[in-house]
Amino acid sequence: MFDQIAQSIPYQKLKINAPVEVTIKRLDLVHPQISGNKFFKLKYNFLEAQKSGLDKIITFGGAYSNHIAATAFAAQQFGFQSVGIIRGEELKEKPFNTTLKTAEQFGMQLHFVSRENYRLKDTSDFLDKLNADYPASYVIPEGGTNALAIQGCKEILTQEDQQNYDVICCAVGTGGTITGLIQACAAHQSVLGFSALKGDFLNKQVAEWTIQHNWTILDDYCFGGYAKTQPVLIQFMKSFEQQYQIPLEQVYTGKMLFGIFDLIQKNYFPAKSKILVIHSGGLQGRNSITE
Ligand SMILES: *Cc1c(COP(=O)(O)O)cnc(C)c1O
Repeated sequence: MFDQIAQSIPYQKLKINAPVEVTIKRLDLVHPQISGNKFFKLKYNFLEAQKSGLDKIITFGGAYSNHIAATAFAAQQFGFQSVGIIRGEELKEKPFNTTLKTAEQFGMQLHFVSRENYRLKDTSDFLDKLNADYPASYVIPEGGTNALAIQGCKEILTQEDQQNYDVICCAVGTGGTITGLIQACAAHQSVLGFSALKGDFLNKQVAEWTIQHNWTILDDYCFGGYAKTQPVLIQFMKSFEQQYQIPLEQVYTGKMLFGIFDLIQKNYFPAKSKILVIHSGGLQGRNSITE
C-alpha cells in the first residue's frame, strides 16, 4: 500500500505573477480525507509492528487529530486492529465530529480519557495499564512522530524533487514531516516550515532530530495558534481555491500557503527560485473545526 502511494503523487505548477516558480506536490490527492503525510509517517511503524508479530496499533490524539483518522484508515487497509486514546472524557457522550466519525468508520476502537489522565500518557504507569488492557499492541505516540516516522517522511522527496527545486515548503505540527524532508533534501536545497502552532519550541525540537542547518520554521503565519483562524485567512483560502482548484484547510495548509504568498510578495525568495510546496492534505479536518 505505502509504496504505491509514494509513486502516484501528482504535481501542479501554479500560474503566479511573480519571478519565482511554485509547484504543489499534491499529497492531498492520495486520499480524499486522510492527510497525505501521515501515510509516510506510518509506513515504517506498521512494518515494524508486522515484524514484531503485533497486529494491533494504539495511538493518541485530540478530537480533531488528522493522525487519528489516518491511523484508523491505514490500519484497516493493512489488516491491523486499531485503538485510539482520545483526549476528553466528555466527548464520549456527544455526537462525534467528522474526525472521530471517520476513525470509527475505519474500525478504530475509541477510548476516551480525561484531560488529566491524557497528560500522563507517556508515563510508565499509563503505558503498563494500556498494555494490560490491550495486550500485544504496537504503540505510536501522539501526532505519530518518532524515528520511524521521520524515516518514512524522507520518502516524500523523490530524486527529481531533489534535483528540480531550490526550496521545499511544508506545514509543521509536531515536526516529524519537516525533519524527514530536511534529512532527505540535497545540499543545495533548503526547507522552510510553516508552524501551525505559536512559539519557538519546534525549532528546538527539530534541531534535536537533525544535524543539518539548511532549514527554518516560521510561526509568523500561525494566526494566533493551533486551529485558530482569522477572516483574512479564510478569505485567502477561498480565493486560492477558486483560482487554482486546490482545496486547503485552515489548520495547516491554508496557513502555509498564506505564508508562502505573503513571503513572495515581500521578495523573501531570490528571483527564479523554484519552490516545491508539500500539500499534506488533512481535508477531513476542513469542516470539523468549524462544526
Ligand atoms: C499532521 C499534519 C501536518 C504536520 O505534520 P507533522 O509531522 O506533525 O509536523 C501537516 N499537515 C497536515 C495536513 C497534517 O495533517
